[in-house]
Amino acid sequence: MPSPTPPMPIQNSTESFWRTQLDPLDSHRTTEALPTKTDIVVIGAGYAGVSAVYFLLERSKVLASKPSIVILEAREACSGATGRNGGHLKPDLHNRPASIASEFGIDAAAEAAAFEAEHVGMIKEVVEKEKIDCDFVVTRVVDVPLNESVGIKLKAGYEQLVKSAAAPFKDVSYTDYDKAEGMSGVKGAKGCFTYTAGHLWPYKFVLHLLTKAITEGVNLQTHTPVQRVSSSQDAEGYWAITTARGAIRAKTIVHASNAYTSTILPEYKDSIVPVRGICCRITTPKPAPHLSNSYILRSSGWDYEYLIPRSDGSIVVGGARSVFYSDLSNWYNTTDDSKLMDSARHYFDGYMQRHFRGWEDSGAAVDKIWTGIMGYSTDSLPHIGAVPSKPSQFMLAGFTGHGMPQIFLSARGIASMIMEDKKFEETGVPRIYQTTRARLDSKRNKILESWEESQNEVRSKL
Ligand SMILES: Cc1cc2nc3c(=O)[nH]c(=O)nc-3n(C[C@H](O)[C@H](O)[C@H](O)COP(=O)(O)OP(=O)(O)OC[C@H]3O[C@@H](n4cnc5c(N)ncnc54)[C@H](O)[C@@H]3O)c2cc1C
Repeated sequence: MPSPTPPMPIQNSTESFWRTQLDPLDSHRTTEALPTKTDIVVIGAGYAGVSAVYFLLERSKVLASKPSIVILEAREACSGATGRNGGHLKPDLHNRPASIASEFGIDAAAEAAAFEAEHVGMIKEVVEKEKIDCDFVVTRVVDVPLNESVGIKLKAGYEQLVKSAAAPFKDVSYTDYDKAEGMSGVKGAKGCFTYTAGHLWPYKFVLHLLTKAITEGVNLQTHTPVQRVSSSQDAEGYWAITTARGAIRAKTIVHASNAYTSTILPEYKDSIVPVRGICCRITTPKPAPHLSNSYILRSSGWDYEYLIPRSDGSIVVGGARSVFYSDLSNWYNTTDDSKLMDSARHYFDGYMQRHFRGWEDSGAAVDKIWTGIMGYSTDSLPHIGAVPSKPSQFMLAGFTGHGMPQIFLSARGIASMIMEDKKFEETGVPRIYQTTRARLDSKRNKILESWEESQNEVRSKL
């Protein structure tokens, strides 16, 4: 019996707010037919693939040696997770580092936190240097536990990190229980952490870099799903890449296809799983209290919302797990971003009124709601670096719904491995993010572990 067709990005995806103003390059093909061969193929025109191309071109200017590059994209440019996310560039400077510290030690936690924090300054620098019109704002995120047990756990983790005196944790300031609601403006806040973050219009950021790349000679082929890559290189060292529109040969491949990685590399099937998320845009008919910060509101370890205020007065907010998470089929191992989750369809109605002081009579209402597919890593760490046993193939995926503060510098690392033959250890990417055979062989699945814990928690409250 033939094996089932591996999942591809599907057609008719829900329309996100970010994709309501499409760039002329959205469905661009630089040449009518695919080139027959190229130096580098990048699979996926999202934040990861386009950032990799940006750094490949930057390095090629320094090295005065320019490779030919073809980007193969299954749908429209930036139509995957990047074009449908929350736009929140929020380094995690306490929650994630605390769990990394308990598993890998404080140095690994500090390394991961510093890497994420560096993204805010780096994106700012690139936005300014390249004059990118993408509503980029540097702010402080207000990170609020909404119940006491989450507050106590987060505070304990934070105190451990602060004791280490590592640089990235010094940016976090903490306000205790009694003053948290006044400080944050969030009703029922049980603590309040703030630290530097940013937000932007991700589609505009990526399309600007893509336009620049095409101006510099890169060939973009949208609506060109990659179906498979040959199992070995030919005598000249080329991999054969089969697409729905014919074949192309490439010396080097960058895998930036995110949730769909295992379609092309089945060895990643148990390591990067497609996970569906939901996001919306809220608008107000009359002036509401100004929000100058971005937010995370945490009801438990697995149930949280992330929120950015935009300069047009609207709010983009994602999350809603409390209403769809218990049914795995809603979100786990699915690539269908053409549908909303029914149980979450109305979750964000009245969200601002429920949670923010002074918003009760704002009339804030959902203006647009959409879903998107993330690439969740089963050990919760990104997979970056050389694909095991596949010479000249590189992985840039598995960001577990938290790619904005991890992808850009990971892409820089991949570009330096390709252009300068750097070893992974020399890239500046946190060492625990290296994709390895041992990680691919691991049977552990933290996504499902966390889900099982959540179900026990829910049952214990009944
Ligand atoms: C609803 C939602 C909200 C989110 N909110 C945030 C947030 O606020 N902050 C944050 O940090 N992160 C957030 N994320 C996660 C973040 O968007 C991702 O980590 C990041 O965008 C991943 O970028 P990427 O380029 O790896 O993937 P993608 O943007 O998904 O790009 C991968 C591309 O590869 C293409 N592709 C796939 N398979 C093939 C194939 N076989 N052939 C050719 N092309 C292929 C896809 O069509 C897609 O365009 C959110 C994600 C979602 C879905």
